[in-house]
Amino acid sequence: MPQTTLNSSKSKLPMQLQLIRRVTPDNAQQYSQVFQKYHVGPDSDCPIFDGMYEFCSLYAGSSIDAARKLARGDTDIAINWSGGLHHAKKFEASGFCYVNDIVLAILHLLRYPSRVFYMHTDGRYHPRVLYIDIDLHHGDGVQEAFFSTDRVFTLSFHKYDPEHFFPGTGNYDEVGSGSGKHHCLNVPLRDGIDDPSYVSLFKSIVEPVLVAYRPTSVVIQCGADSLGCDRLGRFNLSIVAHGECIEFIRSFNIPLLILGGGGYTVKNVARCWAYETSLALQLDLPSTIPDTMPLEFRSKFGPDYELHPNLRTTVPNANTVKYLDRIRSICLDQLKWMRGAPSVEFNERYGEEWRDDDREMAIEDEFNDSNVGMEKSWEGNGTVTSRNENAFGGNPLAKGLDAIVNV
Ligand SMILES: [Zn+2]
Repeated sequence: MPQTTLNSSKSKLPMQLQLIRRVTPDNAQQYSQVFQKYHVGPDSDCPIFDGMYEFCSLYAGSSIDAARKLARGDTDIAINWSGGLHHAKKFEASGFCYVNDIVLAILHLLRYPSRVFYMHTDGRYHPRVLYIDIDLHHGDGVQEAFFSTDRVFTLSFHKYDPEHFFPGTGNYDEVGSGSGKHHCLNVPLRDGIDDPSYVSLFKSIVEPVLVAYRPTSVVIQCGADSLGCDRLGRFNLSIVAHGECIEFIRSFNIPLLILGGGGYTVKNVARCWAYETSLALQLDLPSTIPDTMPLEFRSKFGPDYELHPNLRTTVPNANTVKYLDRIRSICLDQLKWMRGAPSVEFNERYGEEWRDDDREMAIEDEFNDSNVGMEKSWEGNGTVTSRNENAFGGNPLAKGLDAIVNV
């Protein structure tokens, strides 16, 4: 007889993950009574598909591993283009995001190495993590996870239209709560924003945040649906401008986790993330797609085969100078309310709270215990690149590997 219920007492896996592991298109009917609760299934934006659990394990495991390498000091920059699924909530999927790998990775940075740290208090961890999101959509799942803590500062640039555009959150008045108040910034944008407007706004907000918050690591979600010509997008950004935001962050030499995200014109997503990988590695790429690429892939980039095609659309820029100045002013005003960077002593109190909460929150441990074998699937994907100085503890983090790419 098929098992149709989810059992919290017999499995360590949270029930949402039990569902993701067990359900397939063939047996979906057996689990339909819990689809609404966990926001999956045919009536949601998170459909059931074959290999769903392995898909989640791979992208979430890669982000956790990338965070582990950063926290361990094995690398200055880690990249997981398969990650960045920023809409997933703790107890429900959302917007084709089933597991929030970003939250798991940040938790890892905050308390790495979780068990060893508490046994040996000299363990390295990051007291303050800055999360930046340049996807077209609001990074709601990450914001929600860290809304009430000052150990993570969330900053999202996105299209905002509460009535007509998913997820409908991310206005500038969402600023955090409790200890996290004024550690959350949202930059709501309108259709058609162009390169100069976006890059100028990005730099003029990000730099003061970096100065005020003094993060010990930065996680950036690089959703490529903010590019012009995206199938779902409404912005007019070029790949160069999108990349300029990543390069701006990289230039501060703070340990950096680069993640993917949305993007629905696949050939441009590939172009964008290839270019941004080159920025992270500080390498120059040729301006055309190399003819050494297998024809079945290269043919998708014709007829020009350019790395940087013109992505400008006819969508007018509804972000007037007056509007952008107002948004910038509101955001910078919010920063004035943020007290100085939280001290390590202050944050150890949070560490104690999280230790009590370990059983519930250590989803990554549950993943590692699963029989999917994520660990094996991502180890060894390292790419050696040039070495940078960085701001973490004033010493170079590099110990052989400086940028690790988990694709
Ligand atoms: Zn998106």
